[in-house]
Amino acid sequence: MLNKKNELKTIVFFLFITLILSCSNDNSNNLPPNDEPNITPNEIIKIPVVIHVINPPSDPFSISDEKIQSQIDVLNQDYRKKNPDHIKTPQEFKNLVADVGIEFYLAETDPYGVPTSGIIRTESDISGFSGKDLTGKLPIEDYKLFFTNKGGQDIWPRDKYLNIYIASLMDKWGKLGFAGYAYSPGTDPRIDAVVIDPRVFGTLPPLEVNYDLGRTVTHEIGHWLNLIHVYGKDGSCEIGDEVADTPNQKHQNLGAPAHPKSSCGSNDMFMNFMDRVNDNSMYMFTKGQKERVRNLFKKGGLRRQLYLNNK
Ligand SMILES: [Zn+2]
Repeated sequence: MLNKKNELKTIVFFLFITLILSCSNDNSNNLPPNDEPNITPNEIIKIPVVIHVINPPSDPFSISDEKIQSQIDVLNQDYRKKNPDHIKTPQEFKNLVADVGIEFYLAETDPYGVPTSGIIRTESDISGFSGKDLTGKLPIEDYKLFFTNKGGQDIWPRDKYLNIYIASLMDKWGKLGFAGYAYSPGTDPRIDAVVIDPRVFGTLPPLEVNYDLGRTVTHEIGHWLNLIHVYGKDGSCEIGDEVADTPNQKHQNLGAPAHPKSSCGSNDMFMNFMDRVNDNSMYMFTKGQKERVRNLFKKGGLRRQLYLNNK
């Protein structure tokens, strides 16, 4: 009896040791092999983009490859402080202008590893509005824009790509306010995309006057990258954009304002990409916005996996 008890003790002891060893092994194996230390300040983060073009059957393929590339070129200027117009930034904001350090390129392989142009075209009558719940009641499966079997296109995995949908948004709503929209980090993976009307996309026709420099997409990708409008909650000086170096601003600015224009005790930074002015009146992100965007890709950030998969 005593012997058996000792034997049992020994077995339990070895089981315990084995458990400890396997646990510590597990811990080291749990880290993804490519989970590198955090991003360095000057590191350029590169994001592959897939463009889903939803054309009405009467007007197929009017969105040329060249028009799409012109938009990619705009993004690679605006997110790298290479846009020549950033020099128009007023003196008081000049030292805040940031090179966000993000570059975009058309995806070269699809989710299965097959070579692609990064541009997928579908003829369909559905509009960009079918990617948004206007009733507040729709299940995600009814956001038709994002489902091939409902006339849209299935989204590609958000941990590998930025998904941009080009689909008509203007006909029903007028141009202001709904030239495009974007889902923020943390949204449902089936709809984590940016949706843009073809007439505000890129710098080649067809284009809408005042929205012809590709800045609608710069702005909407800003939302996809977690940025909030510089005016925060419209009408409030208290609820801002959670970025320290953008002045509090009471209202959105539209059109082409002249500097200085003040609210909440300071001059508005209406030339920021995250206000709502005309394309040729916006030309800068701030260092604080850069920090907020890049936090997404750091350890624990909501787009960390996208960064790791493209490193
Ligand atoms: Zn916006």
